Amino acid sequence: MARQTDTGSKITWHRYEELRPEQLREIVQSRPIAFWPLGLLEHHGWHMPIGFDGIKADRFCVQLAQRVGGVILPVMWWGGSGGHGPFMWTHYQPEEASRAIVAQTVRQLIRFGFKVIVLPFGHYPWDTVLAPVWGEIEQEAKAHGVLLLTGDEGTIGRPAVKFRGDHAAKEETSFGLALLPEFVDQSLLVDGRDPKDHWPDGDDSPAKSIYPGVCADARKACFSQLGVDARQATAEHGWARLDPVLDELIRRIQAHLTGPA
Ligand SMILES: [Zn+2]
Repeated sequence: MARQTDTGSKITWHRYEELRPEQLREIVQSRPIAFWPLGLLEHHGWHMPIGFDGIKADRFCVQLAQRVGGVILPVMWWGGSGGHGPFMWTHYQPEEASRAIVAQTVRQLIRFGFKVIVLPFGHYPWDTVLAPVWGEIEQEAKAHGVLLLTGDEGTIGRPAVKFRGDHAAKEETSFGLALLPEFVDQSLLVDGRDPKDHWPDGDDSPAKSIYPGVCADARKACFSQLGVDARQATAEHGWARLDPVLDELIRRIQAHLTGPA
């Protein structure tokens, strides 16, 4: 079903999987923009959902689609790589499998006629997962006149806008409070849980295999976070980071679609 912006403008956008073939054809002819949120199921602290990266990337795409139209593909949930492999509820997949699915799908989108393809990396290590094939995909996109925009919140607007995110800490939680506030609960950020309830197999602490800097102590409020304490996160901080990125991407998408063919 077509969704309208809440600003009353005429821009509509769609969910790819809900469209019939001729509707897709019409969109490719009028607004050939495809968004594909790349997420993951991964522990994101006591205060955020397991699907945080995917929901965040999807909501980021919605922000863009409301202003330029186009279609949003279903979240790519099956990724890998990062510092949370041993955590409960985290599903890392073989990197080569995730990479192959993304590369093939992007090639198909190019072949189907999309002229702008936006892939926000809700899970930051998508960057390294895709690196071995990305040079080739970029060449193909260029040869077909396709603008390919990729990166996490802090890099997708580069070089004009650039900053560093974190994991489930102040930065990412602020993006959550901005984009998906109904899924974030900072009141859960308290000490005192029993670690045995929160590791697979009741293991007290497989901390040795955990990425340096990630809080691996389930007794603590900061469990799973990497960065400044998430209790300092605010929606205002999230929007202050995100708004310039969204503006920059809109500018580039519009310039690409209205520029010389
Ligand atoms: Zn994340």
